[in-house]
Amino acid sequence: MKVKRTQNRIIKNNDMSKGSTISKNSSINENSSINRNSTINKESDINKDMNKDINKDINKDIDKDTNRTMEGKNKSIQEVLRINRDGELEYLTFPALSEIPFVKHLFTTRLGGVSEGIFATMNLSYTRGDEREAVDENYRRIGQVLGCELSHMVLSHQTHTTNIRRITREDCGKGITRELDYENIDGMITNVPGIMLVTFYADCVPLYFVDTEHRAIGLSHSGWKGTVNRMGAHTLQEMKKAYGTDPEKVVAAIGPSICQSCYEVSEDVIQEFRAAFPDKDLQNRLYERKENGKYQLDLWEANREILLRAGVPDNHISVTDICTCCNPTYLFSHRASHGKRGNLAAFLGMCET
Ligand SMILES: [Zn+2]
Repeated sequence: MKVKRTQNRIIKNNDMSKGSTISKNSSINENSSINRNSTINKESDINKDMNKDINKDINKDIDKDTNRTMEGKNKSIQEVLRINRDGELEYLTFPALSEIPFVKHLFTTRLGGVSEGIFATMNLSYTRGDEREAVDENYRRIGQVLGCELSHMVLSHQTHTTNIRRITREDCGKGITRELDYENIDGMITNVPGIMLVTFYADCVPLYFVDTEHRAIGLSHSGWKGTVNRMGAHTLQEMKKAYGTDPEKVVAAIGPSICQSCYEVSEDVIQEFRAAFPDKDLQNRLYERKENGKYQLDLWEANREILLRAGVPDNHISVTDICTCCNPTYLFSHRASHGKRGNLAAFLGMCET
């Protein structure tokens, strides 16, 4: 299946100031779908275009950081998200998180499950009307990839809050093999080995956090409400309280969700963003007004900015280049399906020691 990649972003870019995503006017745009079967050729073409736009310092940084061949260098620019295949099953991983030995993570796609109809095939939601047995089987398949029993998973209860729960051994299996005994939990943090955190998506933004110093993790759901209320900063604050987390030692990832080109919002949403982010330059980067009086809002950039302001270094933040709404047969999208859909899930867990 062809997966559309949205604008390219650089993840190793120490020397660039804020707003370092590549110009949206560059030749790499929404419509440049990268066929994975001819990745190498297309990536090198794209790289040529990118080199025109990016100053040489950045390339030097990339060289330093990767110390690889030309092909490897292209990879470090392009591969913010890796597509993994295991039979029918496909799932996405962030290379930056895969490098950390004490965590396991992935983001699901629609492929490789047993659910049918609007839930086809890898639906991870028990609450949207799918067959329980099908969802159980979907979890078993993901559990197999992660090497994780269902009884070690802990599910969120998302209602667009900024509430964060500290997950302990007591919570193991909640929402999946045991009843959920909490509600309104949009973020979870833990430092307990063996626990796998699970949150749900179909356009909203997944935020992954790994504290590499204290061995702790956080996983948060940030839709427009979570974003305007700075869910990312709240999660980091809770990790600091619980584990002494220093944002400078955090590796973060902003996961597959709706891109700016797909995300039209009305004036009332923008009013809240204006109040939350009074900086005019930032406002110009976050949304564009259209002739119809609506706006196109960039949740990826907003969440990246929130993490930067909270103290996470720029080169520690991976930003998705895959949009849920641009890829509605590959990923569940609330917008694209008009609400007739299952849920994708983000998984982030601590390895057993
Ligand atoms: Zn899109």
